[in-house]
Amino acid sequence: MIEEMAADLFRVEIPLPGSPLKYLNSYVIRGGGRNLIIDTGLNRPLCLQAMRDCLHFLGIDLKHTDFYITHLHADHLGLLDKLAVQGSSRVFFNHREADQFGGDFGVGEMLRHSVRAGFPEVEIAAIDFTPSTIYGSEVRPDFCLVQEDDRIRCGGYDFRCIETPGHTKGHICLYEEQKGILISGDHILNDISPIIQLWSDDENPLADYLASLQKVAALDVDLVLPGHRTTFTDCKRRIEELRQHHHNRIAEVLDIVHDDSLQSAYQVAAQMNWNLEFTSWEELPVAQRWFATGEANAHLKYVQEQGEVRRREINGKFFFYSAD
Ligand SMILES: [Zn+2]
Repeated sequence: MIEEMAADLFRVEIPLPGSPLKYLNSYVIRGGGRNLIIDTGLNRPLCLQAMRDCLHFLGIDLKHTDFYITHLHADHLGLLDKLAVQGSSRVFFNHREADQFGGDFGVGEMLRHSVRAGFPEVEIAAIDFTPSTIYGSEVRPDFCLVQEDDRIRCGGYDFRCIETPGHTKGHICLYEEQKGILISGDHILNDISPIIQLWSDDENPLADYLASLQKVAALDVDLVLPGHRTTFTDCKRRIEELRQHHHNRIAEVLDIVHDDSLQSAYQVAAQMNWNLEFTSWEELPVAQRWFATGEANAHLKYVQEQGEVRRREINGKFFFYSAD
């Protein structure tokens, strides 16, 4: 599936079978001299085939193609491994997450934190946390590191990097001011709300995310090109909906942690409403419970920093209770 969104800027649908995201939107710019591919899909044969078919149809030669990756998630980054041409392709990526390639990729810290969040250890063992699953690649590509206000030019497009931490700590959107186009990655999606999760002790991703939404709300945008599902035009409306969504979740968390009984993030997540077709928390697949706990954790951290709940550590685990 190929759709021309603006002159020589194409949306290419890369299937993500089994994922509630359904597909990744890769954006391909045919630049005359060099081309640019923004986000790639998973490192799987099905994604590679879909991408190759589209590039063939568009007449894109990978030897003359650079890449821009919005953030460190396998569905955006994984296929780079098969597409980038050694010694020829430049790969633009944010400076904050490039460091996560190497060592254990931060997996150890994430696992330790999930135990502290009350996630049952036997269940954690059932989730596949190998770096190639999480990041799509164990090899660190030779990145051209970018940060706020850096420019990425291709054909008639001149994009400015807009740092938008929250969904991940290094997420960067691309903004074409003259054309009013925002390539939003997973910062702003139209049909689903981007997951905001916390798996470390020294971050506050929901505070970052809400600040990033406010930052993007100040831009003049006529067309939003997100990383998944439908493209859309009314950026400010969607930002307001996402802001409201998180404020509703904050209220829900405060309602659950309403007295001095101690509850872990896992226990709080079990009582939240996730709009899924499963009737009980126990029925949810372990991976879904993992994401839900990460999301509950991000909201708990936010209200803790606001002084509305308190946290107590007992035997290496964190429990929350009301500050009132
Ligand atoms: Zn993502």
